[in-house]
Amino acid sequence: MSAPSSPHSACSTLDAPESVVPDRKVVKILVKILTARHGVLHYHGQTGELATYQWPTDRHGQKIHPSQFAAYREAHAFLYPCCLCATADRYVETSVLQRAEGINQGQYVAECATSTCGYLLTVEKFFGRASVPAAYYRKRKVTRRPARIRHMLNQDDPLLRVKVEVK
Ligand SMILES: [Zn+2]
Repeated sequence: MSAPSSPHSACSTLDAPESVVPDRKVVKILVKILTARHGVLHYHGQTGELATYQWPTDRHGQKIHPSQFAAYREAHAFLYPCCLCATADRYVETSVLQRAEGINQGQYVAECATSTCGYLLTVEKFFGRASVPAAYYRKRKVTRRPARIRHMLNQDDPLLRVKVEVK
């Protein structure tokens, strides 16, 4: 019985350096989100495509202003738009917040909570548009509070990053 021969340490192939190459598909999706006019586009993890986000309304069909999204989310079965970090079985909510500085200063934006995928959209601009698809979200059961979103602050503006990647 011969001992199993140990594999030769054959010529080691050079590992390709892990460079950050912008994924063309991702860039295309981000541009689509930024340029959509009819409504807020967000990611649908199951299809891998973009879907139109249903803007929240009150019972009378009046759109909720983004400054009230957090309170609305507490009380209704409503989630913020989904970013590109989502997978088929994981919905990943963006953060909706008022930008304190930068390009969209003072405006409410939806932004990837971990600044990972580059999702960043000024949602406030859709508030006044009549044609934006909207829906009333039913009330949440009091016992089922939504998960907290941890927003990681990032010095790099994702919008700038996208611009760099698009070139
Ligand atoms: Zn993301």
